[in-house]
Amino acid sequence: MISQEAIRRFGQLSTPFYYYDVELLSKTLLEYTTLINKYGYNAHYAVKANAEPRILQIIQEAGLGADCVSGNEVKLAVESGFNPSKIVYAGVGKSDKEIKTALEAGIFSFNCESIPEIQVINDLAAGMGTCARISLRVNPNIDAHTHQYISTGRKEDKFGISPWEFEAVAELLKKLSSVELIGLHFHIGSQITDMSVFPLLCRMVEDLQKWFIDKGIEIKNLNLGGGLGIDYDNPLQHPIPQFKEYFELIHKNLIVRPEQKVHFEPGRSIVGQCGSLISRVLYVKIGREKKFVILDAGMNDLIRPALYQATHKIENLTSSGEQYLYDVVGPVCESSDKFAHDVYLPETKRGDLVALYSAGAYGQVMAMKYNQKDIAKAYYSDELPDK
Ligand SMILES: *Cc1c(COP(=O)(O)O)cnc(C)c1O
Repeated sequence: MISQEAIRRFGQLSTPFYYYDVELLSKTLLEYTTLINKYGYNAHYAVKANAEPRILQIIQEAGLGADCVSGNEVKLAVESGFNPSKIVYAGVGKSDKEIKTALEAGIFSFNCESIPEIQVINDLAAGMGTCARISLRVNPNIDAHTHQYISTGRKEDKFGISPWEFEAVAELLKKLSSVELIGLHFHIGSQITDMSVFPLLCRMVEDLQKWFIDKGIEIKNLNLGGGLGIDYDNPLQHPIPQFKEYFELIHKNLIVRPEQKVHFEPGRSIVGQCGSLISRVLYVKIGREKKFVILDAGMNDLIRPALYQATHKIENLTSSGEQYLYDVVGPVCESSDKFAHDVYLPETKRGDLVALYSAGAYGQVMAMKYNQKDIAKAYYSDELPDK
């Protein structure tokens, strides 16, 4: 995935930094858009996965809309050229200011997560003399079989409106004149690798939309969210996610009525595999029981391992030779600042360059200044400095 030529150029750059394979991103997008066009589906890229300007530009140019979870993401999406008519906005805690930002932008839909939120959007829209298009984010109580911190569709999760609240929502909507219900929205979790979850979701979507249709409430849009997982263990063998299987499953299992539009919100599956975190080995510490590789990148650059016990495939880009077992850790003063436990790497020494693969999603965008570390820069495969 990372060419020898690129590795040669890495030698002159200060580490750590994020490296994006633009060709892989374009290939991923081409495969994705070919499939959604085939089925007539719509896609909104989840901006929170990676909001680098160049990444947003490439995705926008591929024709996707944007899925936002804050007012600033809505602003950024508009500034990045995404058409407001393709922007959706979810989140359990939209502030008044954020709602106004999105109303001013004229977004396609607010994905509403509670009854009080619908009331507030109505009141703010009325105050601005406009009408807000809303969808209900429904919590279908499905276990997506993923890490508990990235599961969002179980009844104990904070997201969405539960089916037992539908009656109250329908009553409220009859009274409100500044919101228009345009659809139902579902997003049940992230890094979903158990594909059997998706047919289950399709059946739930059908059961739940029937409730509204039986009441004479039209549901023009079905939004199935994101969540398709990527292969963190074998990123080089599987650089492109299982889009084909995913859309075949959806197409086979989702009942779509005439005039209905189907939407998706991919994040990780679009950008996850195109990014790597490149770091230099500072020290190799040989203990009695363990060998530690200490990197100059830490949880401040890539927090997924510390936050969700996630693992990233690690490769030593500049050494080969006999393999040893190492723990790979960062420099931050936290025991959770650890990237790998007992992994085989070729004998590693100070100055070696290491790649942490599959870091394109929820990587750079979550970087922070903890310990007053610098925020890692981004470099792109087609514009690596040569000198
Ligand atoms: C984060 C998020 C997504 C994207 O999820 P991925 O697992 O990255 O595909 C989609 N929709 C909503 C509402 C989200 O919050």
